[in-house]
Amino acid sequence: MIRVTVWNEFIHEKRKENVAAVYPNGMHAVIADFLKSDEIEVRCATLDDEECGLTQEVLDNTDVLIWWGHTGHLLVPDDVVTRVKESVLKGMGFIGLHSAHHSKVFKALMGTSCNLGWREDGDLERIWTVNPAHPIAKGVGRYFELPHVETYAEPFGIPEPDEVVFIGWYEGGEVFRSGCTFHRGNGRIFYFQPGHESYPIFYDENVQKVIRNAVYWANPVLRDEALTCPHIEKIVK
Ligand code: ZN
Repeated sequence: MIRVTVWNEFIHEKRKENVAAVYPNGMHAVIADFLKSDEIEVRCATLDDEECGLTQEVLDNTDVLIWWGHTGHLLVPDDVVTRVKESVLKGMGFIGLHSAHHSKVFKALMGTSCNLGWREDGDLERIWTVNPAHPIAKGVGRYFELPHVETYAEPFGIPEPDEVVFIGWYEGGEVFRSGCTFHRGNGRIFYFQPGHESYPIFYDENVQKVIRNAVYWANPVLRDEALTCPHIEKIVK
């Protein structure tokens, strides 16, 4: 079993009627629902939970952490951020969705501004698969479209990704590296642009396919118990 934790700040769904109409039980509930299978076990955590629901025990029992945050980025305590970052370095997978680009955790993992241009007017996004042999693109096809999204535009202030899997194009002509991978320590990281809270993006079949593929891809190959820098003995033959 791959053990997934879906973390959502869970703020917009409780404060904005238009968002509650799309995600009455929160985006995390929808993501958890489509991921659950014979091979994937899912738990959810939110900002309301003690320690954001991300205690060391939860992280030690999480293979892949999925993150959705926006207005509550600064409400996530620094010790939780450090704990998540260290879990990634030890091997836990991390999937940052949409506005997670500015989460403390993603920025700590990237080490850069993670800034981007944005516009919220419900434009169409055409997501092009630029790395069709990548496991995260499996079954997605040459491109897929989302009728209404929040536009994100380059330049995206990330370090050079290890792989770009998807490039998004918007009606306004902007382009964006919508699906990128990174490796940090033993951990695999995938950033995926779609997921603005007021559109039913997490119900889209292709979006679900990409996130599911990313869970399999980010499942740890190796997990270190601790991050150590040991003194080593010479091998004498
Ligand atoms: Zn958004």
